[in-house]
Formats: sequence, C-alpha cells, structure tokens
Amino acid sequence: MTAMMNRNDTRSLREQMVRSQLVQRKIRDVRTLDAMRSVPREAFVPEKYRVSAYDDRPLPIGEDQTISQPYMVALMTEALELGGGETVLEIGTGSGYQTAVLAEMAKTVFSKERIGVLAERARVLLEQLGYANVTVLVGDGTQGAAEHAPFDAIIVTAGSPGVPVSLKEQLADGGRLVIPVGSRGYQELNRIRRQGDQFVTENLGGCVFVPLIGVQGWEWN
Ligand code: SAH
Repeated sequence: MTAMMNRNDTRSLREQMVRSQLVQRKIRDVRTLDAMRSVPREAFVPEKYRVSAYDDRPLPIGEDQTISQPYMVALMTEALELGGGETVLEIGTGSGYQTAVLAEMAKTVFSKERIGVLAERARVLLEQLGYANVTVLVGDGTQGAAEHAPFDAIIVTAGSPGVPVSLKEQLADGGRLVIPVGSRGYQELNRIRRQGDQFVTENLGGCVFVPLIGVQGWEWN
C-alpha cells in the first residue's frame, strides 16, 4: 500500500483476496469470510511490504518471523468453529493479524508471544485499531495461559514437534485446538476436539510454519 491508497482501495483488495484466495479454495464459513473482509491486513505488515499485503503468501515481519498467508489464517480460523461467544487462546501473536481476525469473531481473545518486541508492537496496533476484547501476553505459549483457562478454542500459529499437554489440559469440554504438528520444516495441521477426557484428532492438511520454541515445543538454537 502506498500513502496514496485510500480505504476504498484496500477494501477492494480485500474483497478480491477473499474471492480469489479463500472462496475459490472452499473457505465457506461466512463469519470467517466477513472477518477477513474487515481486518486491514496492510496495517500488520512492515512498510516496505505494504504493496504486497494482499498477496497469496506469508510475509516477513522482523525477528525472523512471518505473518501467515491469508488462506492459512482463514483455514485455521474456520477450523475453530467460532460462533461469537468464545474465549480463545492464540499462541504466536507475531504481527497480531490473526489475533485481529479472532477478535472480530469471538468474545474474548488472549494471545501469547515469546518475543517481547513483537508482542508490544501488536498490542499497540490492536489497541489503535479498536480491538478492546484482546489481551496480549508475553511468554512461552507452549505452557498455555493457565490463569485464563479454560478456552473454547486454542490456535497455535507456529509449528510444533507434538501437541503440548498444557494446551490439551486448558481446553474446555467440546473445545477445539488447531495446531501444526511435524518437523521443523513441514507440518500437518491438526484439529483436536476435546470430548470429556477424550481427544479426537483430524488432519486438515500440510503446512509450513516457523518453529514453536519452548519447553513443550522446539529448543531454541
Ligand atoms: N499469527 C501470527 C503468525 C506469527 S509467526 C500473525 O498473524 O502474524 C509465529 C509466532 O510464534 C512468532 O512471532 C514467534 O515468535 C511465536 N512463537 C514461537 N514460539 C512461541 C512460544 N512458545 N510461545 C509464544 N509464541 C511463540
């Protein structure tokens, strides 16, 4: 986005993105599509990538991290099955873009980020954009956020070697956990549904995320 682009331009870019990248690829949940139409993605990418904000790919956000591709954000959000009344936990705030999409669709959102500067930048931006139902936490999200549990939905936006036990424990009965699980270079997107003490896993397909680093994730190196 250049300084010359106005709100109408970005709205039409969003509409185009929703049609060509999401609807075409079978994202069907109307609330997810509406949220993706509402959040100004250009605000969450660094200045020099603004012209590419609606491209069909992830983009660098600094600190060796990325803002996920719009389709991946939509796919994961749809998989959480949000109706509007939920308390949601996100692990991996990054730019705060996914956080904003969740804030459009749920009652309360907690988002935890291990890198302090990213967390602070996202917190300020989300506040500026008027998302009053979001709390950004700093720390190791592989241990969840026990002080705010249980969660109706948990989304992990970094790739994990396994499913952190703390996240399963902090899931409400009937809750959904969406998490990429696999190697450092390639993962399968898992949706895990809690039914009492049972956890039912579905595979939603392949994906590539930056590593989830923490005591129940990958080691830092
Ligand atoms: N949802 C983000 C994607 C960010 S990339 C967006 O829309 O922009 C993944 C993020 O996960 C990175 O910012 C990384 O620092 C963070 N991360 C990695 N391991 C983490 C952990 N254990 N706890 C919290 N955040 C973590």
